[in-house]
Amino acid sequence: MDAATCLRKVALVGVVSYATVDASGAPQVRLVSAISLEPKDRPERLFFFTARGKDFCEELLADGRSQLVVHTRFNEMIRVSGVARPVPESEQGAWIDRIFAEQPLLQNVYPGDSRSIGVVFELADLAIEYFDLGERSIFRQTYTVGEGRARPKGFIITDACIGCGACASACPQRCIEPGDPYAIEPEHCLHCGACFEVCPVDAVKRLG
Ligand code: SF4
Ligand code: SF4
Repeated sequence: MDAATCLRKVALVGVVSYATVDASGAPQVRLVSAISLEPKDRPERLFFFTARGKDFCEELLADGRSQLVVHTRFNEMIRVSGVARPVPESEQGAWIDRIFAEQPLLQNVYPGDSRSIGVVFELADLAIEYFDLGERSIFRQTYTVGEGRARPKGFIITDACIGCGACASACPQRCIEPGDPYAIEPEHCLHCGACFEVCPVDAVKRLG
């Protein structure tokens, strides 16, 4: 798995749940279709179309912080975070035409020249979280693209560990290895917190 493959999977799912932040700071989630990728051979950026009158467009222009999530038919969850910006005015027409050519359904929604009410946004500088629930143990990985930054998440075992093994017994994914100290395999960790709760000496710390 890698960032480009994650983005291809997002585009293949086709309809994504897309979260923005409104003027009061409240989350707003929409379904967004018609995702295009660039560059084609190794995608690093997402492009999508919306209309100027929509609250969605207003929120993107005011505060582009965005997060989208998809669930694939293979029980993979992919979450993409970044900041959305409109593509330059001089490129809007070409981008609108490209997205309409790739997504013919849009021509039903915005027939003829009515597509000119649209704005194409770019989502770049990404943090991508990939999560495969179909594996046992589960597999997770985080990727960044461009200036994207990923916030540390999950748990870590510190040197305060006394080696009692309670965390390993409580772990639903059996992803804690014995040692001095015991160690969590982060790529298989659910972030469920069971190890954190059972440790008798508070040796398990939350990241972030
Ligand atoms: S429960 Fe705490 S002390 Fe016991 S092995 Fe796990 S981290 Fe170490
Ligand atoms: S957070 Fe849950 S899955 Fe992760 S190591 Fe701790 S008990 Fe295991």
